[in-house]
Amino acid sequence: MISVLEVLQHIVQEVNASPNLGKALSVIVNRVQHSINTDVCSVYLTDFETREHVLQATVGLPSEVAGKTRIPLYRGLVGLVCERAEPINVEDAPTHPRYLTIKGIDEAHYHGFLGVPIIQNRQVLGVLVVQQAAPRQYDDNEVAFLFTLAAQLVGAITHAKASGELAAYQEQEGAPINFLKGRPGSTGVAFGTVIVSYQQADLDVIPDRMVENVVHEEDAFRVAVEAVTEDLKALKARVGDSLPDEDKALFDAWILMLGSDSLVDRSVERIREGQWAAGALRQTVHEHAQMFDDMDDVYMRERASDIRDLGRRILTYLQCDTARVVNYPENTILLGEDVSAVQLAEIPSGKLAGVVSATGSNASHVAILARAMNIPTVMGVSGLPVARMEGREVILDGYRGRVYVSPPPAVQAEYARLAEEDREISAELEALRTLPAETTDGICIPLYLNTGLVSEMSDLGSEAAAGVGLYRTELPFMVRDRFPSETEQVPNYRRVINAFAPRPVTLRTLDIGGDKPLSYFPVNESNPFLGWRGIRISLDHPEIFITQIRAMLRAAIGYDNLRIMLPMISRVEEVDDAQLLIQRAYEELKEEGYDVSMPKVGIMIEVPSAIYQIEILARRVDFLSIGSNDLTQYLLAVDRSNPQVGDLYDDMHPAVLRALVQIVEGAKVYNRDVGVCGELAGDPAAAVLLLGMGINNLSMSAGSLLRVKGVLRRISRTRARQLLQKALRYEDAASVRRLMYDTLENMGLGGLVRPGK
Ligand code: PEP
Ligand code: MG
Repeated sequence: MISVLEVLQHIVQEVNASPNLGKALSVIVNRVQHSINTDVCSVYLTDFETREHVLQATVGLPSEVAGKTRIPLYRGLVGLVCERAEPINVEDAPTHPRYLTIKGIDEAHYHGFLGVPIIQNRQVLGVLVVQQAAPRQYDDNEVAFLFTLAAQLVGAITHAKASGELAAYQEQEGAPINFLKGRPGSTGVAFGTVIVSYQQADLDVIPDRMVENVVHEEDAFRVAVEAVTEDLKALKARVGDSLPDEDKALFDAWILMLGSDSLVDRSVERIREGQWAAGALRQTVHEHAQMFDDMDDVYMRERASDIRDLGRRILTYLQCDTARVVNYPENTILLGEDVSAVQLAEIPSGKLAGVVSATGSNASHVAILARAMNIPTVMGVSGLPVARMEGREVILDGYRGRVYVSPPPAVQAEYARLAEEDREISAELEALRTLPAETTDGICIPLYLNTGLVSEMSDLGSEAAAGVGLYRTELPFMVRDRFPSETEQVPNYRRVINAFAPRPVTLRTLDIGGDKPLSYFPVNESNPFLGWRGIRISLDHPEIFITQIRAMLRAAIGYDNLRIMLPMISRVEEVDDAQLLIQRAYEELKEEGYDVSMPKVGIMIEVPSAIYQIEILARRVDFLSIGSNDLTQYLLAVDRSNPQVGDLYDDMHPAVLRALVQIVEGAKVYNRDVGVCGELAGDPAAAVLLLGMGINNLSMSAGSLLRVKGVLRRISRTRARQLLQKALRYEDAASVRRLMYDTLENMGLGGLVRPGK
């Protein structure tokens, strides 16, 4: 007997694997009809533009009504489900006051009716309906079943819908102007061709890719299959003695599968149709796994995971063969399920035009890096059909978080105009490069640079900055397969210290953990942002910390512009312990004969507990710097890289503003400089509020420097204070943003926060 949970998992898996919306919906209606033994099952999708419920798929009703039947929004029982956003279960539908006779559907007068809403982000995307010719009250279990299913189907439906819309874009002239919606990651407009980035050996994220050299692909595929067969034979021989015969037979079964016509021949067929080997493999493995998934027998369903495993093994060999053969087009749009900062850094310079990631947010490190490089970026595009995006022409609107796929000429023309205006604004801002960020009433706010996520080859606008306010030291640790030694670290730090001297350079000690893992130092935690990260790891491993501090001090010999900054401080002991270790490193080096000097030491304020001990902490250190990315995450309890809660992450939330005011006041008691080095500092609208608070310096990505300078040079501190007072009276983040955007718009500076002039 197969459990309800298994049936649910089954359906969801099958829907997830569907290549388009039509297939996905057909799976749903057929499976549901079968599972609860009902006469009719249909799915209506809500078309908010035409304000209609569209019957998109059905089993039980005449097939020709699908796609044609449209009910005005909120009319009939389907409309009632949508309006109330809750299930409607009626035994005898025609007697219900909201019953609506719909041509082609209700001639037969179906009596039993149950409709459940399919909801995403509080919006009813569609209604799943089951009907029965005779009166029928669907029981509680059936309602709960459909309810649970509908909740799980949302992702798959949006995904399949997006894929289908892509097809429509390609096939129909004049298809509706639609875009995939994400969140702004880095401002700007980009035009380009998509290259899909994917993690190695993950079959699910392999894109479709057409190739010309079919013979090469087929050869590579056969070689990979052969290699996996050999591996399995070797494995079987190795474990041979320790396994009972029936388990050994498993290896034979796998080897047989590899030799079977279905897996190999079907993939080869696809390759001969022009698909590259990895894409052909993905499609074939999905198809086969699906077949096994569909079987009721648990043992047979297990075979589906065997097929997937074999697929991954073949892929690993294919990737050894095909690694690094990507030809990046001139305007590459790097797009993926979860684009990483390292993948972005791999694109040859000058070729990267934009970045799109299905996951992550404005505060993810890939977005931070993109801003440093001035690359328009859209993050958290849920439902992004990654596998079908390779080679597509797209336009990115990094201000509004939009991706237009194969856009019609009218959209292209409009964005070409906006991009041109953006270029004009950038050219005008260039004139500010060497000028100070001085307000109209003569207050100078040093603008520092956030750097370190990219190798320091390029001078990322260094002359426009008053120094480095945050040098993230994680990259040299992330790109190696072991901790870098002291002597390996020195040149990294010296390069930036030297490039900016005599301007201050703030090196932050290692802040791994959270979303910055090291492959060679695995930390397995269910809640990494609340776990072992930043200063906590450094203090638990003084050998790592001291090595880094020694490298920093040695790198600064001959300069006196080094400042050391400690991340993730949540208690005073951490500051005291870290300072002792810094002192020890200094003394050791002195003893060894190095002419080092003691740097200024500061801390990041990015954990709420630090706000409430701000004076006590300020007394202990030379300077403070607010990490608004983490501070927002921890104050609002919103994971900074989770797009599901991306709408809730807002660093202009009134609670964040109040926290910042409290920090500034606390720092002033001991006359300590306080800066902001989170992404808030690089937002021209927020920079005005920070000026109003009395923040001493702002540190930001290179791409934001001139925009922030542009706004600060046009406003007075007095006006900024007034705006802050007004903002602090608002109760929600949206009102604060509206106030600030309207203010910039009225000052003629709207082009700093949206596309165009
Ligand atoms: C921050 O949290 O605001 C910050 C600057 O540090 P990171 O983004 O590297 O966590
Ligand atoms: Mg941080």
